[in-house]
Amino acid sequence: MSIQESIQEFNNRLTGSNCQLIAVSKTHPVALIREAYAAGQRAFGENKVQEMMEKQPSLPEDIQWHMIGHLQTNKVKYIAPFVHLIQSVDSFKLLQEINKQALKYDRVLDCLLQFYIAEEETKYGLSLEEAQQMLRSPEFKALQNVRICGVMGVATNTDSDEELQKEFRLLKRIFDTLHQEFFKDADYFKEISMGMSSDYQLAIAEGSTMVRVGSAIFGQRNYPSPSNQ
Ligand SMILES: *Cc1c(COP(=O)(O)O)cnc(C)c1O
Repeated sequence: MSIQESIQEFNNRLTGSNCQLIAVSKTHPVALIREAYAAGQRAFGENKVQEMMEKQPSLPEDIQWHMIGHLQTNKVKYIAPFVHLIQSVDSFKLLQEINKQALKYDRVLDCLLQFYIAEEETKYGLSLEEAQQMLRSPEFKALQNVRICGVMGVATNTDSDEELQKEFRLLKRIFDTLHQEFFKDADYFKEISMGMSSDYQLAIAEGSTMVRVGSAIFGQRNYPSPSNQ
């Protein structure tokens, strides 16, 4: 199937659902991003600052760039001028830096809090308790240039539907808890980013509003791209 056909198929599947496709273009050249763009795709995910920075200037301005990989505080400044959504906020220190850089560019940057939901020890993310502590703090409330729009999680790399379902449900529960406690009146707090090529159907069934799909659109990645470095 061509990239164009894959995008169309995803769009057909997602029409009428509350879920948006983020095309994960990491490791793939801009030519392939252009193909997806021609099929109408606007939201793209990258997991490395360097790669996103290199691709962004040569592509149309209405592309929405999603940072989905671990983000180091010293690199926030490079993407702050143009990034659409930072999905991988996993510490208060990082959020403070995002706020600082957003202020510099006179922007309010949309972010998701990344939660640790997997069995694997290598995944980044906050625990519910850490997030609650952060959201309750006066230091968080002082941040004027970031907006928390929801949650993100990376599930375990497993064939077990049962395990995946458990992890997706955990993230949904975290979302509901935070919504109830901190964002009841915030209509922007609505995103649950979960699901990838191998498990997006399960994720949608469990309430995903953003699936991050790479290989099912662009094919296998030719060189390893550790998703969380
Ligand atoms: C690479 C990546 C994806 C997409 O993975 P595929 O299996 O290619 O769909 C989704 N989320 C994150 C955080 C990633 O790093």
